[in-house]
Amino acid sequence: MAYVGIDLGGTQLRVAVADAEGRILIVAREPTHAEQGPDRVIDRIAAAVAGALAQAGVDRRRVRCLGIGLPGPVDPRRGLVHSPANLPGWVDLPLNQILTERTGIHSYLHHDAHLAAFGELHRGAGRGSRDMVYVTVSTGIGAGLVLGGELYAGARGSAGEVGHIVIQVDGPRCNCGNRGCVEALASGTAIAREAREGLRRGARTRLRRIPAPGPTARDVDRAARAGDAFARRVLEGAGGALGVGLGTLVNLFNPEMIVIGGSVMNAGRVLTEPMRAAMARSSFASARQGLRIVRPRLGADVGLVGAIEWARLRSRS
Ligand SMILES: [Zn+2]
Repeated sequence: MAYVGIDLGGTQLRVAVADAEGRILIVAREPTHAEQGPDRVIDRIAAAVAGALAQAGVDRRRVRCLGIGLPGPVDPRRGLVHSPANLPGWVDLPLNQILTERTGIHSYLHHDAHLAAFGELHRGAGRGSRDMVYVTVSTGIGAGLVLGGELYAGARGSAGEVGHIVIQVDGPRCNCGNRGCVEALASGTAIAREAREGLRRGARTRLRRIPAPGPTARDVDRAARAGDAFARRVLEGAGGALGVGLGTLVNLFNPEMIVIGGSVMNAGRVLTEPMRAAMARSSFASARQGLRIVRPRLGADVGLVGAIEWARLRSRS
């Protein structure tokens, strides 16, 4: 018995083959070439699955089922991909059905951030917890909700958009079109924008030495580590905004654990201290009691681990 897990991103496609216990045997990676549209990408997925199975020496008939994570919006219940921003042309695509036909393996899709949450729940930092929120803060902010031990996707699969909690109604424009979302104030994109705006306003900072188009979130992190006061203020602001978003989550879901990772969190205490303070200010003490905020344990393959765990769960249901 074996399982296949797939993590389909806008730039990279990863395929893993796992044994009956969910232990990954091999991982194959290749570029997605999303610009070629769904038909060609699905061809590539089918070929990558066949190649990975051959490499692992696993007969296709021994594969119980396949789990695939991809960027939202997707509807796991109906097996539909709606229209992910970084997969052009994937509009209301019945991907479960198509992949099942193309690979000969029962296929089950889910949102990639939710599957990452599921991976951390079963094999990472969230082991043993039943009420957990997983948040990843990088270019954007992704999240997944585990409530009562189960992934919570919502009626149409779009639950858990933690990054788009509006915390400043007249705030900066977000990628989603709204204003003042957590993502517009605390993501890597937001940190870079905030730094560049500060430079335009004449802020005194070593970030001024960085050539056009200006500093990235990583540059801000580096400058803050070197003691740059302006860079530190930018990260403190992002941490504060993130904390207000987390406080809302705490009040809504009363999780026992928040697993929070992503490149932006590498900034460390300059960001997490204002984050924790803002979270405490914006949530009920009773809901925070016993709450643990931890870093994820799984690395870059967290999405694959989640996809395999999702396949294992579906094979049992
Ligand atoms: Zn938004």
